[in-house]
Amino acid sequence: MQKLPKVELHVHLERALRFQVARRIDADFTPQRYVRELAGLPTMPRPDQYTARRCAALGLLQSEEALRLAVKDLVQQLAEDGVIYAEIRLAPFLHTREGLSPENVVRVVVNSLDRAYHDTHIETRLILCTVQTAPEIQSETVAQLTERFWGIRVAGFGLMEDPCRAVRNSDALWSVKTHFSAFAWLTERGIPRVVDAEETVGVERLWEMVTLYVPRRIGHALPCMDDADLQLLLRFRRTHLELCPARDVQLGLIGDLREHPLEGLYRAGHLVSVSTDGRVTTPTTLSETYAALQERCDWRREEFLACNIMALESSFAPPELKAQLRKRLYQAYGVHDPRKKRRRRR
Ligand SMILES: [Zn+2]
Repeated sequence: MQKLPKVELHVHLERALRFQVARRIDADFTPQRYVRELAGLPTMPRPDQYTARRCAALGLLQSEEALRLAVKDLVQQLAEDGVIYAEIRLAPFLHTREGLSPENVVRVVVNSLDRAYHDTHIETRLILCTVQTAPEIQSETVAQLTERFWGIRVAGFGLMEDPCRAVRNSDALWSVKTHFSAFAWLTERGIPRVVDAEETVGVERLWEMVTLYVPRRIGHALPCMDDADLQLLLRFRRTHLELCPARDVQLGLIGDLREHPLEGLYRAGHLVSVSTDGRVTTPTTLSETYAALQERCDWRREEFLACNIMALESSFAPPELKAQLRKRLYQAYGVHDPRKKRRRRR
């Protein structure tokens, strides 16, 4: 599994801090403290346990050096996992507690990804995120940063929950209208957008986001399972659903991998892909998630290739890069690219 090339569309920088990185950022980190504060999340944790770990990790990533170390290590993790292309979520304003400007955060991470590319040849792009409870001006600033860095490792804009303020049924804490101007501004400029549903979002809020923001992809799309009409709309629009099955089981949102909606959505013709979300808060890799899908859901190379192709086609990578990666995927899986056959027949 490790050797198979993979595409990952949904991974957060701050949720993948390994011990050696935490220790280099803060020399007081012992293995025990690391498990207590950053990793070691129990299965079916209380929401506050999950929030505390994500927030503690963000607390460490407040300097240029810390961001550089975290990016380098995350790309190393992707390389070890056979990932050939990844889109990493970064919310610049969450890294400004100790004086970094949001622009500086983006610049440091972009430069670090460039450097990591030269060392590993792993292609990565950033999704610059605002958070649900952020004020309008903050979302507009992130949208402007997305435009400024678009094409320079930044591939799109996203809306996610605030990792430090995540509570169940949090829809009352924010309004879709707050972020509308940011989404509208990016839509006018043809810059791709993604929204995260997560377990804290109700189905009505997801309807609002889908209607107003017209995202190309939805992260943590589980709430759409409660609404057949919404599923119909998403299938019709070819909206891609990013699913993180290991995380959903870990958080107790799904009892067992066999019951995960991934399989049903895939068979029903939705565009879906498999991601980790965070490789430390959810202690998994894509290789391990694939192995679990193979064992529990009887997934074979056919399903893994299909999901990787869907991820690649729905990614925000430029067309020439997509073509290169598509070739690598089909070659590694020993399958001819069906698009080529179609072209030849014409
Ligand atoms: Zn996520």
